[in-house]
Amino acid sequence: ALTDKLEDAFRKLRGLGKISESNIADAMREIRLALLEADVDFKVTKDLIEAVKTRALGEEVLKTVTPGQQIVKIFHDELEKILGSAADLDLGPPQRILMVGLNGAGKTTTSAKLANWLKKQGKRPLLIALDLYRPAAVTQLQVLGQQLGVPVCVPAAGETDVVRATRAALAWLEQQGSGVAIFDTAGRQEVDEALLSELKKVRDLVKPNETLLVADAATGQQAVAVASKFHETVTITGLIMTKLDGDARGGALLSMRQVTGRPVKFIGVGEKVDQLEVFHPDRMAQRILGMGDVVSLVEKAAQEIDEKDAMKMMRRLEENKFDFNDFLGQLRFMKKLGPLEGLLGMIPGMNKLKGMPGVDDKRMKHVEAIILSMTPKERSKPDIINGSRRKRIAKGCGRPVVEINQLLKQFEMMRGLMKNKSAMAQMAGGLFGGG
Ligand code: GDP
Ligand code: MG
Repeated sequence: ALTDKLEDAFRKLRGLGKISESNIADAMREIRLALLEADVDFKVTKDLIEAVKTRALGEEVLKTVTPGQQIVKIFHDELEKILGSAADLDLGPPQRILMVGLNGAGKTTTSAKLANWLKKQGKRPLLIALDLYRPAAVTQLQVLGQQLGVPVCVPAAGETDVVRATRAALAWLEQQGSGVAIFDTAGRQEVDEALLSELKKVRDLVKPNETLLVADAATGQQAVAVASKFHETVTITGLIMTKLDGDARGGALLSMRQVTGRPVKFIGVGEKVDQLEVFHPDRMAQRILGMGDVVSLVEKAAQEIDEKDAMKMMRRLEENKFDFNDFLGQLRFMKKLGPLEGLLGMIPGMNKLKGMPGVDDKRMKHVEAIILSMTPKERSKPDIINGSRRKRIAKGCGRPVVEINQLLKQFEMMRGLMKNKSAMAQMAGGLFGGG
């Protein structure tokens, strides 16, 4: 199954301590297989893999302790990007929605679901049965309409001409006054020219502002063909994927999204009329990944990194080796996480150091500039920074000498504080005991 495949691939990735071009390639190969197995189109898969690979090889990932989890996050983000953002229904005039799709996709059910949803929005939905091929289809819509208290337009008995039925429906609509009309059309087992040319005629008469392609989550490799055929013929404006309450991962949605470039508007999550949900790309990305809560996983990874860094820092402090290199690393870390949320913020004993250089967000840039103007030797042995060195550093970073002096003084103070055994114990207690 896709889930197993992907989880396997990610498990391998998660175990990697270091990421290299070759192990990314291995992982990507597995992801590619998994996506193809989930019926995601070949080209869509290829683009996705490329995007993930490019980003994964970036510095961001190389620096993390658990690159696998970063890749999961990148993969998730890219999926989300392809899936696009949620889009509202266009309910502008003429307020007509045409439902299209294969047989059994869920057009009739979703028509009723949409009517229910619109009703809840305070709108006035109207249902129009245009599936003349299956006698039961008209009855099905009638029953649903009755349940919802929504008017249903049914074709004349024995009507076989869909164009005539459409004209009659439009006349019926005139009499109904204003409302959002949902046209439920006929499908086929597979896309065929007869169905499409008929749909085109209906579309030309109805002139809908929304033409929604309804597709079953279990749609296989035919997803691209289905989506492109319907899109070519009737110009899809949005997608609805049904039966996402089942096991199918819905990889077809990626393909359909890519082929049509149209947003996903809703998803169906059950047979009942209220089991229609507004589309959430993040949730869908997670579902396709089959990873459960990917984001929280990655957040947990980030936390682990913090802890590892914090412990390394503690060791440096204990050994009295804390220098400007450590400080610079910490500044950058804090910049990434936001002030006071960095390592020092994690250590309760450090709260006393709030006035410390760098903790103040506004000064952070200046302090960083000063440290960057130091030579590597000066950074690791701040004691050697004498008067002439201070002047040179000041010139290099464009800050006044007095600021360099201040930073050096504060840095010495900080190191002194850290050397203090009781402060150390307090910090360690806070870090390892408190939680
Ligand atoms: P149509 O041929 O496109 O009009 O498809 P229908 O609306 O008749 O739906 C075909 C079958 O799929 C019916 O049994 C529906 O109850 C079922 N169905 C539609 N949408 C969903 C869904 O979101 N979840 C589940 N579980 N079943 C659905
Ligand atoms: Mg139907």
